[in-house]
Amino acid sequence: MRIEAGVATHVGQVRSGNEDAYLLDPPLYAVADGMGGHRGGEVASQLALTTIAESFRKGAVPFAEQVQAANRAVFDRSGADRAVAGMGTTLTAAVIRGDLAHLVHVGDSRAYLLRAGSLRQLTDDHTLVNRMVKAGEITPAEAEVHPHRNVLVRALGTEPDVPLDEQDVGLLDGDRLLLCSDGLTGMLTEEQIQAILGSTDGAPQEAADRLVLAANRAGGVDNITVVVLDVLPDDGTEQDEVVAATAASGADATLVAEEDPVRPARTPEARRRRWRVAMIAGIVIVALGAAFTGARALIDTRWYVGVADGRVAIYQGIPADVFGFQLSHVVEETEISAPAAEALPLWASLAGGINVDSRADADARVEQIRRDVARAARGGTGGHA
Ligand code: MG
Repeated sequence: MRIEAGVATHVGQVRSGNEDAYLLDPPLYAVADGMGGHRGGEVASQLALTTIAESFRKGAVPFAEQVQAANRAVFDRSGADRAVAGMGTTLTAAVIRGDLAHLVHVGDSRAYLLRAGSLRQLTDDHTLVNRMVKAGEITPAEAEVHPHRNVLVRALGTEPDVPLDEQDVGLLDGDRLLLCSDGLTGMLTEEQIQAILGSTDGAPQEAADRLVLAANRAGGVDNITVVVLDVLPDDGTEQDEVVAATAASGADATLVAEEDPVRPARTPEARRRRWRVAMIAGIVIVALGAAFTGARALIDTRWYVGVADGRVAIYQGIPADVFGFQLSHVVEETEISAPAAEALPLWASLAGGINVDSRADADARVEQIRRDVARAARGGTGGHA
């Protein structure tokens, strides 16, 4: 089987910023809903997902341990940076391998399974009201309108360790998985969600868009994020992709012409030569692809601190471009003024990029800059202690 994904995220009708985040990095898919102030929420959900995405690619430890590491990363940042103190995030993630979806969950984002037209919630909300419902203190209907219905009893990044819900779900062709933040489930009933998911066959992106639209129409009081994953029968699409990729190379005109019945038949020698040209072209394409992938992987392990939008920022990659292609991207913009930092001798070269060994080093360097700028603002030397 194969997975086709659709995704949509929206700030909603009330909030000023979107603190939700999502990850589509097959076979890993996730939704995170950050909290802890306008900045903290954004940092928490993004940091959790970037940390998980990085460790997932390395794949050295089980997925749950990678999530624990992300928990620690958010927790540590929360403790080190007063601007984001107390932040945390939900996480609902699915790793899909073969016909098995491995779910890891904490918080009140949700995973649902639509099978044969009926919707089933797979995850359990880690909320105060859900705990009260389970204890028989309130009814599910009361929970839906409870003033504290958003209070979480568990989140990523608020404690040094977090208990995770884990489960494996066997998948069937035709299944549709939904990962979503509470901005969807707070606005739509399960009947409404089921109706939309059930009426948009074969178009996960259309389903995702329609869910977000419906949540916005219902009020959109929170950020809305949905990932829709369709489980489809394996129909040799990979084969098609290989053919399409080769066809796009141009060198393949030979192969296409070979199939053309209008042209006169070629001698076996000419045919062999053409196949050889096509094969060499194919090898060159594969080699270029491998070189690009290798370079990409290498670049992704590099970090530097630089300037973005007049602020100190952390970049992944190297501070250069090749033929106009940037070899880096901003991972985090801080609130620190770049001109203020560059006014200090130690940080004068900031605009050119200061290379560091890791993300943690980048964070540490930013902290140094923050302290130095603050010290200079207080009338100190701005020098390095
Ligand atoms: Mg939310």
